[in-house]
Formats: sequence, structure tokens, C-alpha cells
Amino acid sequence: MSDGRTDDLKRVGANRNSRASDAFFAAATVACLAIIAAGVLRGAAAGAGAGAGTGSAAGGGGPSAETPTGPGAAAGGASGGTLSRKPREPFTRPNVRAIARDRALALNLSLREASFWRRVEGGEVQCELCPTLCRLRDGERGKCRVRVNYSGTLYALTYARVVAEHVDPVEKKPLNHFLPATGIYSIATAGCNMGCIFCQNYEISQSFPEDVRFEMREPAGVVAIAKRYKCPSIAYTYSEPSVFYEYMYDCAKLARGNGIANVWVTAGYINEKPLRELARYLDAANVDIKGFSEEFYRKYCDGHLAPVLRTVEILKEMKVHVEITNLIVPGGNDDPGMIRKLCRWVIEKIGPKTPVHFSRYHPDYKMERPGPTPLSTLRMAREIALREGLKYVYIGNIADPEGMNTYCAGCGRKLIERFHYYVKSNEVADGKCPHCGERIPGLWPSADGKSLVRIPVDEPMGKEPK
Ligand code: SF4
Repeated sequence: MSDGRTDDLKRVGANRNSRASDAFFAAATVACLAIIAAGVLRGAAAGAGAGAGTGSAAGGGGPSAETPTGPGAAAGGASGGTLSRKPREPFTRPNVRAIARDRALALNLSLREASFWRRVEGGEVQCELCPTLCRLRDGERGKCRVRVNYSGTLYALTYARVVAEHVDPVEKKPLNHFLPATGIYSIATAGCNMGCIFCQNYEISQSFPEDVRFEMREPAGVVAIAKRYKCPSIAYTYSEPSVFYEYMYDCAKLARGNGIANVWVTAGYINEKPLRELARYLDAANVDIKGFSEEFYRKYCDGHLAPVLRTVEILKEMKVHVEITNLIVPGGNDDPGMIRKLCRWVIEKIGPKTPVHFSRYHPDYKMERPGPTPLSTLRMAREIALREGLKYVYIGNIADPEGMNTYCAGCGRKLIERFHYYVKSNEVADGKCPHCGERIPGLWPSADGKSLVRIPVDEPMGKEPK
């Protein structure tokens, strides 16, 4: 480390949200350092190297002979009986620049055998981690840029190659119902399995791992740093953590064993089997539902909505605390009807007490226009959500006195007052409103501070469940 700050947390570069948050978090007097990736072309290799190894990763990994069952498999189905239309193959053949094995090794990328893939004919492999279901010839890598086929085995290139690390306020994830006012050690590697044209973190999410500076952080080191900075939780975030699945899984398992909670900040584009394996070690997730239509996902995100909704349902089923983010892009997903549908789905499938964050977009990556989301649009979305019956609705990425605070769904009193990510006051005690006893969904410190109180988002209104 060369910046003279610490041995473990390094100076920051690319993540714009991180930069924006620094001022707030500094005010909160929590250590806030570091992103490693300067978001710039890395070019030169770090010495030849070590990173190789093919140990098996997360449970359920390795090649399988199963037929793909992910949502992407269905995408190529029959097309309304039109015989002339050839059904799409149930996989993607990504056109992503290849990287030779020797070069990957010379650049100190990892050759960690991936989880959730299978061999197919001709030396090809099919990745089954996400609904994209990339089918890769020898030397090819997936749409996410970080999983590659070498000689009939799928490898993850970014295991323990961290491009961003921060101690953030947990409110920045955003999580407003999860250990408020605590720091969360947050990490990312390069890569993403979607292609949102407005991505706010594109410098790392849409980068090739060989183009971005990284630091080595083995899972034991991640847990040690979280402990050193007294973080009760670790977040897998900034880019798309699903594509560094094996690393996230190993970190999460180790963190759980050390009494540290795990938070997944994600677009939720993952297949069911890996998700269920991972969710066993997750305590909370913020899932970004980008817009409530397949058309929006196709046009703006190069993905599909249906698998994301399924992800949220599975998280709820597996008792992971879930908060939803919807980044509102003017002219894209700001239609009141679309927002209403999103809210109704959340109420029906997850629960009316699910925290929902409407977040401000700003032009980035491939989108220069329109300009940032007007506050009036975000307030309109919040109003719709409250009218539809959601109980905890927030506005993010912009100051809004009403939309930043938590109000009790039982008596309406202000329970948590925030300024952006900074908690000014917090009255929630033992997970309850001190005025009316309403149980507030989320994960809270117990009254004696010795344990955690978990209150599900689908719990009925009222004091104690019968
Ligand atoms: S995780 Fe990457 S390689 Fe695997 S299917 Fe998704 S985009 Fe393709």
C-alpha cells in the first residue's frame, strides 16, 4: 500500500456514489477510506503469478449434467406458434474479448474453478450461475467478463481480486432497517452480468478485470478488516456481486462463523440454485428492481425482469431481510402506472412493510440525457407507494426531509431522522416503536445490545405476533 493510510484500506477512485458519500460519512465520523480501482486502464501486469488454483468453490459447484432450469432457459421458448420463427437457443454466445490463460496468469488474475456450470459438447462449457447462461468455447469468457473457459473448465478470474473497498454507513447500501448508524465493510471485484446503460458504477462493473487495479483480499483478510474497523456487517456491492459468487460465498460463510452479518447489494440476476446456496449465509439484501417491465429491462439493462422478481421471492422465503431500490430514470421507468405495478407486486409478494427506496438517477455511462431525476418525480413515486399501502418508503441520492426518515407504520411518529446517510436520531428500541409498540421490520440491536432482533417484512401490523 502506498498511500500511507493503512495497510488494508486503500485510496479511492472510481465509485462515484462512494465519492459522493464521503462527505456525509466523514460527518458521521466513521472511518471511510478506499476504493482501489481508479477506474483507469491498468495496462501493466502485476508480476507473474500466483493466483492459480482450481480448488472447488461454493457448495453445489463444479460441472453438472443437469439441463439448465434457470429463467433464461425458458426465454427461448416457442414464439406463439409462428412456425417460421426459429426458437432462440437457451443460452447466450457472448461476444466478449478473450483472454489467454498465460496472460490471465501473468496478470495475477485468479484461476479459481467456478461453481454452477456444466460441460457440453466440443469442449464447450455452459455457465449456470445467472440467467444469461453463457455458452463458451475454449478461451472464451462470459458476458460478465470475469468467467472463462480454459480447456473445458470454467474459471472465475476475480476471486479475491478486490477493486473497491470502503467502510460505508450501512444507510448507503441503502439499508434503512438494518443496524442503523453502523459501518459496513464493503467490497467489489470487476464485472457485471447486466449492461445497464445508465450504470452509476460502470468504471468497475463494465470493466475487464485486467484493466482495473486490484488488491488481494482473501476471505480471512476480509473478515479481519471488518473486525478491525468494528463493522458488524460486510457488503458485497458496487459492481454485481453475483459474478464474484465463489468469493462472496466463501467470505459470507467465514463472516457468519465470526458473528459478522452479510449483505448482498444486487440487481438480483442470478439463477435459483446458486441463490439458495448463498442465501443461507445472507442476513440482508438490497435488490435493485430497475423498472417494472420486461421492455425496460430489455431496452436499458440487457436483462430480464422475471428472474429478478423470483430472486426477491426466494430471499423472502429464506428469511433474508430485503429492501428494494428502484432507480428512477426520467422517460424510462418513471411512468406512474409502472411504479404502481411495482408497489402492488411488492405488497402482494413480499409484504407491505418492505422498505422501498426510490433513488435519483444522474446521467452516466452511455446516457448523457436526460438530466438527473427531478425531486418532484421521486416524491410522486413515494406518494404512489404510500397510497398503494407500502409502509416504509424512502427517497435516495438526494436530500428530501420527508423521504429520508423512518416513520412508524403504527402511529406515524418519526422514529429515525436522517440526513442522507447520517443518522441524526434513532428511537427504535428492541425493534419496536417506543410510542405504540409497533414492530418495525428489519434487523435491530436488542434492548440490552447483546443480540439482534429480526422482524420480517411480511409480519402483520401490531405489537407482538400471536
Ligand atoms: S455469470 Fe457471467 S458467464 Fe455466467 S452466465 Fe452469467 S454472464 Fe454468463
